[in-house]
Amino acid sequence: MDLNYTPQEQAFRQEVRQWVQAHLPQEVAYKVHNNLRLTRDDLQGWAKILGKKGWLAYGWPAAFGGPGWNAVERHLFEEECALAGAPRIIPFGPVMVAPVIMAYGNEEQQKRFLPSIASGEVWWSQGYSEPGSGSDLASLKTKAERVGDHYIVNGQKTWTTLGQYGDWIFCLVRTSSEGKPQTGISFLLIDMKTPGVTVRPIKLLDGECEVNEVFFDNVKVPAENLIGEENQGWTYAKHLLSHERTNIADVNRSKRELERLKRVAQVQGLWEDVRCRDEIAKLEVDIVALEMLVLRVLSAVSSGRNPLDIAGLLKIKGSEIQQRYSELLMLAAGPYSLPFIEEAMSAGWQGDFPGGDATVSVLASTYFNYRKTTIYGGSNEVQRNIVAQTVLG
Ligand SMILES: Cc1cc2nc3c(=O)[nH]c(=O)nc-3n(C[C@H](O)[C@H](O)[C@H](O)COP(=O)(O)OP(=O)(O)OC[C@H]3O[C@@H](n4cnc5c(N)ncnc54)[C@H](O)[C@@H]3O)c2cc1C
Repeated sequence: MDLNYTPQEQAFRQEVRQWVQAHLPQEVAYKVHNNLRLTRDDLQGWAKILGKKGWLAYGWPAAFGGPGWNAVERHLFEEECALAGAPRIIPFGPVMVAPVIMAYGNEEQQKRFLPSIASGEVWWSQGYSEPGSGSDLASLKTKAERVGDHYIVNGQKTWTTLGQYGDWIFCLVRTSSEGKPQTGISFLLIDMKTPGVTVRPIKLLDGECEVNEVFFDNVKVPAENLIGEENQGWTYAKHLLSHERTNIADVNRSKRELERLKRVAQVQGLWEDVRCRDEIAKLEVDIVALEMLVLRVLSAVSSGRNPLDIAGLLKIKGSEIQQRYSELLMLAAGPYSLPFIEEAMSAGWQGDFPGGDATVSVLASTYFNYRKTTIYGGSNEVQRNIVAQTVLG
């Protein structure tokens, strides 16, 4: 296995780098580099810029309107975007529901939904978790009852990330109570403007409203919005989760934050402390190891194998690394990172960190926010169970 990039891959990287530099709005890159609050316009604006170029759907095959890149090209694209300070692509449309529509949707659904995902016009949300059904997802209760050519949906989803912006939501719904819980679940696409859908924000530890509760009260959904077959949704849901977990590993963002950590440690004089450098070195080793694992997965994908069963492993390591750099950044910035200053999340706020990095004052928010990484996408404890069963045997 050769993990070096070929000259063609290096040329591809260069092309992506130049294009991103020329098209990424600088004020958005500034916010990303400093962990400031991104608005809907920031996120969707960048998605539309990518969409115009045909790169928002960067993981899609050409047959569905994607660039048809191989796994290494996709990785290089992600890395260049992360290092340039591009916002992460909101995954629910292009990375999560689109592969399900491609694999299990009918032709009409593919024609109807995929173009507006690829262009960034339509914002999707994920309706899996419910109160009481997170790790034990198959116990979900939101009910969809078939009445003529519609489903009537009643129930509640929770922790719906950025659901306040959602145009559409893909939901797991219960269509049967017979047999094992997994066998009575269906995969339904719901227009969030339909009467009876209510979105209520949940304020989190960092003071932000990143997640929501979504209520369904007699929501009438055309039966043509059902993906695949009724009661087969669990299979489709698992297909989607492996994409979600690989995406959460996000090694490129960790590489960017590692450089930031080194800068903050230097400004604070901690760089001279061998124990501090030791911690940073350990983190760097883990990031390099994660990157190697990602490259091994990509290499396997390129040669036609499907190693998605180790997606859980990538999720565990990636999320733990994200928490560690958020902790080390707090330690490196010392007292400057302690105040929880909500206003500091806005671009332009003037703090007093020596070295000019006013945004060190948002480190506490980031630290609080990152408690989520070991929970969402399936908690790390549960991922360990899955890895133990499917990878270790
Ligand atoms: C910030 C954030 C964003 C999210 N976004 C979305 C979203 O957009 N859409 C969506 O559908 N969901 C979303 N989720 C929900 C997420 O998938 C669930 O929180 C997660 O699956 C855990 O479920 P739970 O919160 O119900 O915890 P529980 O399942 O109640 O687990 C509680 C604790 O028990 C542990 N535990 C449970 N079962 C086991 C077991 N068998 N073995 C060992 N330990 C176990 C867990 O690890 C955890 O520590 C989000 C969550 C967060 C925090």
